[in-house]
Amino acid sequence: LKDCREGRVTVESLAEELEQAGLRGLGGAGFPTYRKWQAVRAEPGPRYAVINADEGEPGTFKDRYYLEREPHGFLEGALVSAWAVEAQALYIYLRDEYPGLLVVLNDAIAELETAGIVEPGFVILRRGAGAYICGEETAMIESLEGKKGQPRLKPPFPAGAGLYGCPTTVNNVESIAVVPTILRRGASWFSSFGREGNKGTKLFQISGHVEKPCVVEEAMSIPFRALIEKHAGGITGGWDNLLAVIPGGSSVPLVPAAEIMDAPMDFDGLKALGSGLGTAAVIVMDKSTDIVRAISRISYFYKHESCGQCTPCREGTGWMWRVMERLRTGDSTPDEIDMLFNVTKQVEGHTICALGDAAAWPIQGLLRHFRPELERRIDCL
Ligand code: SF4
Repeated sequence: LKDCREGRVTVESLAEELEQAGLRGLGGAGFPTYRKWQAVRAEPGPRYAVINADEGEPGTFKDRYYLEREPHGFLEGALVSAWAVEAQALYIYLRDEYPGLLVVLNDAIAELETAGIVEPGFVILRRGAGAYICGEETAMIESLEGKKGQPRLKPPFPAGAGLYGCPTTVNNVESIAVVPTILRRGASWFSSFGREGNKGTKLFQISGHVEKPCVVEEAMSIPFRALIEKHAGGITGGWDNLLAVIPGGSSVPLVPAAEIMDAPMDFDGLKALGSGLGTAAVIVMDKSTDIVRAISRISYFYKHESCGQCTPCREGTGWMWRVMERLRTGDSTPDEIDMLFNVTKQVEGHTICALGDAAAWPIQGLLRHFRPELERRIDCL
């Protein structure tokens, strides 16, 4: 931060360094961080920087882990982002369910103010109210403005018209926190991890049926089996007991055991399997899992969190969950399986924000890989 403020790092050299490092947004979308900053800087001011610390995707707990342990490292990255776009103020939107972090961050901000590193009032910490949808950047901006947290129609994008109608950059905690380290160690250090198009390190959050659930920073593209063996102590009951994995938080389609074993854990590797890296929240399920119940539970979550603004999501999420429940109990018909798939396709891509996709994809993954299990339950009746 000091180097930036004292001119030893320019905005141009910063963007070049991050481009060479191959840093992509680590909150789920994978959009290059520096490009957001360039787009915001190209617009006339005043401008704002917003940090998304509202992680609410089931299975995801990387930002909490990082903020608890490295609040100053995070704040340095956040202040670099504010400097890069010449922001009037830096807003941090913190998940409501993290009250302990409110204390940690408030203390760290007060320390920076006392040390004269930031002007009092420049960093504004706001607490959400428990809505998953406020993790979507425009819903977050609405919430920051004191309104109901509902996503906006895009365009315009926040880079052109964001907080209070001004150009705004919205970045995830992890994407921001890694920036000072890249500047200190150099782009070549960061890009030495991973493979082409998938560079750097990633915080993997491993939960479910493993011996030692954990959060770990690892090289991008590490094979799934190596990730689990090295850090999570293996699968409960051994590798033959693995059923399926949700590799990127609850919104991405599951991948069956045989396909994920040796897959590289990165953006392109998981996309090739019809899933995604998402937030890298790796949810491991062994053969004791009722996979239909698990996906139905996820469907209920998205039904509950729909903001209700657009019809395919408001009506579709509830409809899909009710059919999932019938499939779970076997109280359904085979043609309803096809109908459910068609409805997921009508919801996907036809809504204001990505929650519609997030509700459709887990079900599509289940139908793609576990249709025989659904039919078996119907036949059993
Ligand atoms: Fe709201 Fe769902 Fe529409 Fe998103 S997709 S704006 S959550 S109703």
